[in-house]
Amino acid sequence: MLNREEWLPLARKLDWDYTYVREDEVFPQVISGHPWLPHAEWKDWEESFKTSYREYVDNQYEKDMAVYAVRDAIGRLENIQKLAAPWLNSLKVHAAALPLAEFTGVIGSLRGARFGRDSAWRTMSTFGALDEYRHTQIPLLLFHPLVRWDSQFDWAHKFYHTNNWFAVAARHFFDELTTGQNAIEFAIGTNFVLETGFTNLQFVGLASLARESSDHMFERMVTSIQTDEARHAQIGHPVLEVMMKHDPEYVQYLLDKWFWRSWRMFSILTGLSTDYLTALEQRPYSFKEFMEEWIIDQYLRTLDEFGLKKPWYWDIFEDELNIYHHAIYASAYTYRATLWFDFVIPSPAERKWLRQKYPKYWDDMDAVWEQVAERWRTVGPGAANELAVHGSAMPTFCDLCQLPLSAGTPRKNTANVLTKDGRKYIFCSAPCRWIFLREPERYANHKDLVKRVLSGEAPAHLPDLLTEYFRLTPDTWGKDVYHGAYEWLATKKASVA
Ligand code: MN
Ligand code: MN
Repeated sequence: MLNREEWLPLARKLDWDYTYVREDEVFPQVISGHPWLPHAEWKDWEESFKTSYREYVDNQYEKDMAVYAVRDAIGRLENIQKLAAPWLNSLKVHAAALPLAEFTGVIGSLRGARFGRDSAWRTMSTFGALDEYRHTQIPLLLFHPLVRWDSQFDWAHKFYHTNNWFAVAARHFFDELTTGQNAIEFAIGTNFVLETGFTNLQFVGLASLARESSDHMFERMVTSIQTDEARHAQIGHPVLEVMMKHDPEYVQYLLDKWFWRSWRMFSILTGLSTDYLTALEQRPYSFKEFMEEWIIDQYLRTLDEFGLKKPWYWDIFEDELNIYHHAIYASAYTYRATLWFDFVIPSPAERKWLRQKYPKYWDDMDAVWEQVAERWRTVGPGAANELAVHGSAMPTFCDLCQLPLSAGTPRKNTANVLTKDGRKYIFCSAPCRWIFLREPERYANHKDLVKRVLSGEAPAHLPDLLTEYFRLTPDTWGKDVYHGAYEWLATKKASVA
């Protein structure tokens, strides 16, 4: 029998010359990506896992069995019902956003599996596609018992198929990053930026929040997913290395673009869970502290290693770390009926904690919560008063990230307008505008929610928009977890020293 070392290269790294087609016909630039180089330039492509299919299957089987064992022990409905209400609502965000985002990762990985420029890259992408399929199925399986219990968990499964504003933004992001992407940009945007950088937020950060919140099922799930991500993320480095020799300016652009776009998405996906939907005594760190330790340090080191520069917008980004996800949470609370999960008002103790963690702009945010609290005091607590403490005007969305205009600070709004080819666009921030202007052909025809309302595609009246266009119902749309009945709110005016 052959030793492993003797057959492995034939199984995972085997390229050949074409005789009756040209290489650029097998790997057209439009779908393989830029820069288009002959295979000779890619032939040293290598990664360190060097897995065979048989080993892959054995490994994954073990991992799945471990997840099932935990599910059997602690994944029953009654286990999950014991979790704190804010954390359960954080789960509703992930139940909606995770499975099908992972599924778009299957499609992107398959693009690499066919159009990646070296056979080892294609092998690795094939495993990556199987990984992402697993990441679709596991959350679907684990969240399924919750569907009959809570209609918002049920709605979470519909999320991606609706025109809910956050679904529009999530599709705008994942369709560009994964489903509609060429193999090279996928390797940079997904494998390099998202999977080596930002998924730490989801899989390391959320895992420790879940542990602190006693949600060991969720902790186990994301930890298991992370072991796959750590492997297929390795595709990014060797692709980037080759590109650096041929078009470093393009590499810098792709990194800067995908860092910014990922930041926008994850500040919501992880930021809200970390600083608001986890009970105060269970927060191991603030979102900003986690970003600094797990994302920024590591990302800057990697940039340095490859001779790349910090993104030009770094100061803007660092400033946003103090405010952006806070502004998004406050605006989402104000418009909670447009979403499918429930919210909490930060208590005086939480506001004190937030002030310590975010001294730079917390005064501005505190004023917003004071107003919200005052409004509840005026109308009184109760489910019937939900819409009396709610926004009514239609918010405006950024023409790049499709998220509400919440960048800058309450005192210094960074929204900006662009007129191009007779059309008007609005952006939440300078980096969103910059990305749009680099690739207008990619973004200019997308209609944000306001344009859909103006063209009659979507109803202008908020209740109709919620039910007819977002497909929410009074039962499923977001509320205040306590309907304004907070002990601290009823007894005294919330003042935070
Ligand atoms: Mn995944
Ligand atoms: Mn992945």
